[in-house]
Amino acid sequence: MQTTAEIGYNSKVEGDVVITRLEAALNWFRQYSLWPMPMGLACCAIELMAAGASRFDIARFGAEVMRFSPRQSDVMIVSGTVTYKMALVVRRLYEQMAEPKWVIAMGACASTGGMYRSYAVLQGVDRILPVDVYVAGCPPRPEALLDALIKLQGKVRREPVLRTLKQPGPALPVRPPARQMELQP
Ligand code: SF4
Repeated sequence: MQTTAEIGYNSKVEGDVVITRLEAALNWFRQYSLWPMPMGLACCAIELMAAGASRFDIARFGAEVMRFSPRQSDVMIVSGTVTYKMALVVRRLYEQMAEPKWVIAMGACASTGGMYRSYAVLQGVDRILPVDVYVAGCPPRPEALLDALIKLQGKVRREPVLRTLKQPGPALPVRPPARQMELQP
């Protein structure tokens, strides 16, 4: 009796099969498809725009799809001075982004308030958002932003995605009442 079923080794598929862990595959997809939300608030935003242009070409890292809707983006790049007036908006937009989501604080102002030790400026966006990567400089060069993006990709690659799939993201810093945020020095 003859059979046509193929069993065992098949040389036709050799070289076309990759074996990996599900978690590694999911993290690989995520790390190379980060969709940034450009939160350009001051001069650092010019460097952010340069990072997307042809000379620096953020597309090499799969992050060129800048979205201006929080529903469609998963990494907020806060570039510029965060005033108390804008802080409420930044926080609201972050809350509207779907999980998983990450934050890059680009530049001295977004990271620490920079030179603006003033009643009007939030002293670091990490007071209202969980920042994943900080970028030093005033302003940082586009290469520094690309370096931060690579660091974030490394962080995404190591995330235990299956264990945290249905759990809420990192706890947000305590949000001061709106009136206090507007007036607090
Ligand atoms: S860090 Fe410097 S370049 Fe960036 S927003 Fe602040 S003052 Fe402007």
